[in-house]
Amino acid sequence: MEHYLDNAATTKPCEAAKRAMIRCVEENYGNPSSLHRKGLDAQHEVDNARRIIAKALGCKPQEILFTSGATESNNLALRGTAARYGKWRKKIVVSGVEHASVKQTLRYLRTEGFDITEVMPRTDGLFYAEDFLNVVDKNTCLVSIMLVNNENGYRLPVEQVFRSVKRSFPDVITHCDGVQGFLKIPFRVRTLQADLISISGHKVHGIKGVGALYQKQGVLLNPILFGGHQENGVRPGTESVPLIASFGAAVETLFPTLDDRFAYVSDLKKHLIALLQSMRELEIQDIPGASPYVLNISLLGYRSETVMHFLEKRDIFLSSGSACSKGASSGVLEAFGANDVQVDSMLRISFSSENQEEDLLALRQGLEEAQHTLLHK
Ligand code: PMP
Repeated sequence: MEHYLDNAATTKPCEAAKRAMIRCVEENYGNPSSLHRKGLDAQHEVDNARRIIAKALGCKPQEILFTSGATESNNLALRGTAARYGKWRKKIVVSGVEHASVKQTLRYLRTEGFDITEVMPRTDGLFYAEDFLNVVDKNTCLVSIMLVNNENGYRLPVEQVFRSVKRSFPDVITHCDGVQGFLKIPFRVRTLQADLISISGHKVHGIKGVGALYQKQGVLLNPILFGGHQENGVRPGTESVPLIASFGAAVETLFPTLDDRFAYVSDLKKHLIALLQSMRELEIQDIPGASPYVLNISLLGYRSETVMHFLEKRDIFLSSGSACSKGASSGVLEAFGANDVQVDSMLRISFSSENQEEDLLALRQGLEEAQHTLLHK
């Protein structure tokens, strides 16, 4: 039996997503831009997915743009805003713990003359809204803050920051990387006060290679790709109908159960913490208010990658730090106050509602075996 506990890296596609993808490969394979019936059937698939995703976010269908994934959504949001609104206002304020697709895009924008101000957690490992507000000024064009951190599940105070920023500087564009919160943490675009929100299909039991960007009506973006008229000309290129339809099908399946899954996964996390608490030389990073979908632990004295591969042999899958960094530390955990010893041995467990008690018991046993078998580094 497999014990997949790496759902922040990616999730297993659900049946509805697979069915929708196959339907669009086998039957509705037309180009949505074609004017005949095959084209219309494909267009209908895209429209339907757009409606479903808009409903889940609490926005209008025309406020959803499809992309190839959240990396592209983040690039488009940041570069598109900078190009549109950053001619005179050159300052961008961002949390210091963003995903590489935000961090690296901003590094590029720095070379274009933008001044990037990163806000860090305080020494208690927490973010405070006022630390963002203190650095936003009339030269700021954009504030970008992720909803839930992908490496430790920390929930950032996005609402408080965006609400206050909008009150004092209504022209500032607000962007939220919502990837690790979408369909996991209840939120609506209006309560978030975000102008732009990035989401990804494969984190919500869809298929890899599709994402979306919520673009509030009236907020303009310069495109980063040039071509046809698709997605209002902001994201040209023939739509990947099978992937878009599978994204829609996954969201349609997941959205109605958001609260039940939240409660279920919260119980799983509590149960795992209780199971692991009695283990020696194991540290649990139980962050206040974090997403119930992520739990970090450190098996002190054992390198995370060694433990990860040890567990993999027992069909237990989890991550050592962020999946995107392939073992190289991104510096995010350190920013939250973890020391070198903790980072070196940090393991990220990330749940889905498909996980069961057996997965937790297998993990505990695997970790105990690791302590008995592996050599201290
Ligand atoms: N942002 C966050 C917070 C993520 O966790 C990820 C995926 N690791 C991304 C962006 C990028 O998403 P995608 O894989 O769809 O490009």
